[in-house]
Amino acid sequence: MAKRLRRWVVKAGSQMVCSGGPLLLRAWMQQVASLRRDHGIEVIWVTSGAIASAADRIGFKPAGRKRTLPEKQALSALGQPMVMDLYLLALNAAGLQGAQVLLTAGDIRDVARGRNLQNTLKQLLAWGCVPVLNENDAISTDEIQFGDNDSLSSKIAVMMKAERLVLLTDVDGLYEEDPRSNPRAALIPYVKEVSSSDLVRAGKGSSSSRGTGGMYSKMLAAREANENRITTHLVRGDFPQNLLLLAQGANVGTQVGGKHKGL
Ligand code: GLU
Repeated sequence: MAKRLRRWVVKAGSQMVCSGGPLLLRAWMQQVASLRRDHGIEVIWVTSGAIASAADRIGFKPAGRKRTLPEKQALSALGQPMVMDLYLLALNAAGLQGAQVLLTAGDIRDVARGRNLQNTLKQLLAWGCVPVLNENDAISTDEIQFGDNDSLSSKIAVMMKAERLVLLTDVDGLYEEDPRSNPRAALIPYVKEVSSSDLVRAGKGSSSSRGTGGMYSKMLAAREANENRITTHLVRGDFPQNLLLLAQGANVGTQVGGKHKGL
């Protein structure tokens, strides 16, 4: 069986990126630096937030209707450099170099393009750079779309033989019930395998106010990772030290698959 590398794929959602801003990104990249330096873990970072950043910046809010596809694609083209600006500042402050890779689902499905992508990512990691990935929304259409970055990140984790997939979100993890409607709902610390009842619990169609993914798409991503022996963690992104806590073996958020320390 293929050996798992000390390689993590970490995904940050639009809500986190936009509301956390430069300070949160700095805290994340400081942790990425420490993961490599102190734990020998290399990180592939997946980020959303392009569309939401551009919509915020230019105040684009069409009244009484959804955004059209060309509008979303144009917003993504506007917002992607805004998001990368923030990442590069944060990475450089942590003494790291960042690289941008934009991709569509077709880039993974196609064998030759997939191999090129893999080689590019491996080379960047070998140089100690942090690849920052996003879907190439400006040109993605239905047939070549991941749909959300949860799905993109699990596919990248599988392709790159990652040890763990970490999904940073604006809640603490998976709950017995939606914590927004029942604040007393209990957090589920460990899911061995994602069952259909876990998917029902995650609630299809749920989403944050800004990104496309909700808990449902996260559980689908966790299931795909789990089927490929990759442990997934759903953790709160704005809790400053969560990535380091995971590397130190602490139980944070919800773990899907792998051995759980608390059991
Ligand atoms: N790729 C989109 C963006 O950067 C977001 C997709 C998602 O929320 O999963 O704006």
